[in-house]
Amino acid sequence: MKTKAFIGIGSNLDDPIAQVKNAIDALGRINDARLIDASRLYRNPPMGPVEQPDYVNAVAALETGLSAEALLAELQRLEAEAGRKRNGVRWGPRPLDLDLLLYGEAVIDTPSLQVPHPGIPERAFVLYPLAEIAPDVSVPGMGPIGELLAGVSDDGLAVIG
Ligand code: ATP
Ligand code: CA
Ligand code: CA
Repeated sequence: MKTKAFIGIGSNLDDPIAQVKNAIDALGRINDARLIDASRLYRNPPMGPVEQPDYVNAVAALETGLSAEALLAELQRLEAEAGRKRNGVRWGPRPLDLDLLLYGEAVIDTPSLQVPHPGIPERAFVLYPLAEIAPDVSVPGMGPIGELLAGVSDDGLAVIG
């Protein structure tokens, strides 16, 4: 059985625009996954306590036969291939961050995987690109994307032309 999954993509190191474009291509090459859509790229100021460059963000949609856990492992493999070092600093600068936002209608809550991704409702840089490719999606436990969008400010967020 195939499941539609949405992936949040972010980069703020080592040519972020190229990193995000390459990541979209790489997602399409995951075994047993097919890229079905990708948003435009968005520029976004960083969140969190660390002084760092702006982020480039996008969201991609995949159709996959992989389990959510297997898909997360593939995402982490792609992050590592992009040169990401896991040094324990959450929200620090990184060449590639791939978050599993949605996996069908699944609700998963384990130490290594939470789906829907808990950051979705407060993050304009996730909600805007997600709404672009999935305007009618409802986020399990969080509500319709339209309602979530109405709750965030798009301050600082800009489509990259
Ligand atoms: P945030 O998750 O708030 O966006 P982050 O992306 O900076 O922060 P990471 O350092 O990339 O966080 O990931 C920390 C851990 O989050 C990973 O080791 C992974 O096991 C876990 N994780 C839990 N749920 C998810 C998910 N839906 N997608 C990706 N990673 C997840
Ligand atoms: Ca993230
Ligand atoms: Ca992450």
